[in-house]
Amino acid sequence: MAKYKLEYIWLDGYTPTPNLRGKTQIKEFASFPKLEELPLWGFDGSSTRQAPGDKSDCVLKPVAVYPDSTRKNGVLVMCEVMLPDGTPHPSNSRATIIDDPGAWFGFEQEYFLYQDGRPLGFPEGGFPEPQGPYYTGVGYKNVGDIARQIVEEHLDLCLDAGINHEGINAEVAKGQWEFQIFGKGSKKCADDVWMARYLLQRLCEKYAVDVEYHCKPLGVDRDWNGSGMHCNFSTEYLRTVGGKDYFEKLMAAFAKNVNEHIAVYGPDNHLRLTGLHETAAIDQFGYGVADRSKSIRVPHSFVKDNAYKGYLEDRRPNSQGDPYQIASRVLKTIAEVPTA
Ligand code: ADP
Ligand code: MN
Ligand code: MN
Ligand code: MN
Repeated sequence: MAKYKLEYIWLDGYTPTPNLRGKTQIKEFASFPKLEELPLWGFDGSSTRQAPGDKSDCVLKPVAVYPDSTRKNGVLVMCEVMLPDGTPHPSNSRATIIDDPGAWFGFEQEYFLYQDGRPLGFPEGGFPEPQGPYYTGVGYKNVGDIARQIVEEHLDLCLDAGINHEGINAEVAKGQWEFQIFGKGSKKCADDVWMARYLLQRLCEKYAVDVEYHCKPLGVDRDWNGSGMHCNFSTEYLRTVGGKDYFEKLMAAFAKNVNEHIAVYGPDNHLRLTGLHETAAIDQFGYGVADRSKSIRVPHSFVKDNAYKGYLEDRRPNSQGDPYQIASRVLKTIAEVPTA
């Protein structure tokens, strides 16, 4: 038997964006614990905006488990928050989402690294050289000194945890980065995104750096990039059958549900989706082949040989969005369109 450090991680009750919370308990297991072996646990919901003080108990239900390579016998346990009667807590966005193991998602999480109240590498009280050389850039003047160390360490932590981390790149603004997470099924992929966010935030503590997920941290009036979380998606039908007729019906369903999508695509998105940068305006829907100024970008691979098969990229979700709700909304709209 060995003593394992179980870090139970959950989303709190803050709105519009929940925070990650975590606490550790020690349990003995013969080997690395399986999900079924992990017990329910509890916490004080009155400290996380999830319960009143006189009925403060909330329940943590383990739903996914990952190795934690930063700790001896470390285990990361993603949890759903439940009420004492065993039903999902109102803040539990995971419990009620639509899932489909045949649906594949790739989220591109953009974020800023912040120190002393400004993006890492910004001079005090001012701005660095305008955007241009930073995206996928190299060299101290473009990426500074510790940012790459952070993103590389984060990549290794994710891979050690078994997260389907697919890649990293420096983004358009100085101090801005991106990582990509791929997963099969909405719950699996979104669990991995939340866990990757957790690992990044925890890692950054030792660098005295914070992760800023807001979609337009430098403000709408400044010509500095916003942060998105593009949602790439495909269903089994889209990958194997597809077709132009189905695709056009699907896009019509996305157009009809513009407001429903925007409602779960992250707070303050009007600051980012102005129509001037990176996607269409917030109240409009459009799509185009290889077109990064539209709501949905259709990759060249999708229209190759007129097949209309493969995956699509919804560019509207933002960096602060909840991947559970984003993936679920995409699946809901897809479900409105009959397949042949
Ligand atoms: P870009 O920056 O050009 O938009 P990225 O390479 O950052 O593209 O991200 C592309 C994403 O698409 C990756 O996260 C990848 O996992 C995802 N992806 C690729 N193929 C599929 C697929 N068949 N279904 C869903 N997502 C996919
Ligand atoms: Mn990308
Ligand atoms: Mn990007
Ligand atoms: Mn993209």
